[in-house]
Amino acid sequence: MKLKNKVAIITGASSGIGRAIAELYAAEGAMIAVADLDETGGTETVDIVREKGGYALFVKTDVSKAREVASMARQAMEKYGRIDILVNNAGIEGKSALTADYPEEDWDRVLAVNLKSVFLCSKYVIPEMFKNCQGAIVNISSIAGMTAFQKAPAYAASKAGIIALTRSMAIEYAPNNIRVNCICPGIIKTPMVERSTKGSLDAERKLIREEPLGRIGKPEEVANAALYLASDDSSYVTGSALVVDGGWTIK
Ligand code: NAP
Repeated sequence: MKLKNKVAIITGASSGIGRAIAELYAAEGAMIAVADLDETGGTETVDIVREKGGYALFVKTDVSKAREVASMARQAMEKYGRIDILVNNAGIEGKSALTADYPEEDWDRVLAVNLKSVFLCSKYVIPEMFKNCQGAIVNISSIAGMTAFQKAPAYAASKAGIIALTRSMAIEYAPNNIRVNCICPGIIKTPMVERSTKGSLDAERKLIREEPLGRIGKPEEVANAALYLASDDSSYVTGSALVVDGGWTIK
């Protein structure tokens, strides 16, 4: 029970990596607020947690909108009375296009959902963490923010921005005992990756061939890293970018 009696807001927890984090945190004793646009998936995550005896609540939130994020923090406070952990996980891949062909409105949307959301959620949750004199923020970046990927300029820029924002917030809030770290996952089998492979076994095999560990990652393997960064196991870790990529970036 590494998160006993802690309260965690997890954005984008209606599916994929966010859901795996919600399930693991709840199993470790945390009370969860699932913040997502997808009401059906969010309710499913809440049901999964509750069926296993955990505590969870769904808060419909577009993380790119300040008013909705403020309401998300308020609803979590009303329900649980404190916020200890924030996982900024919600994200979209955006269009696949070269930079010169990338539509401006898609650029704006990807930056808003992936990067501005980290700013907004942190802006509204950090004051609540001050009240407990401690907190842990875990941002989900990507290896796309560290290396070169073609036809994903907005996604890559947003994920690199998360690493920079993580470091800035880590140094700003270290005196308040709020640790801020990020995770850079590699290719993880979630609906996001399934959208890009379109269920094609060939496309999946191609990805696997590029993996030193010879397989795609599981959402639970990212969740394990997110548990480490949220718990006291990482009490001396802040400002880090933890790579969980099966060795992709060391090739
Ligand atoms: P996913 O299964 O598509 O989950 C993303 C979740 O975020 C979905 O439930 C989605 O809801 C939600 N979301 C999208 N826009 C939102 C918004 N404006 N407000 C609130 N929620 C929103 O993808 P995933 O693979 O688990 O991705 C989770 C995070 O990991 C993302 O930040 C992603 O960039 C990052 N990541 C993933 C991989 C990978 O290989 N899977 C690798 C590196 C990093 P809808 O379904 O309604 O859109």
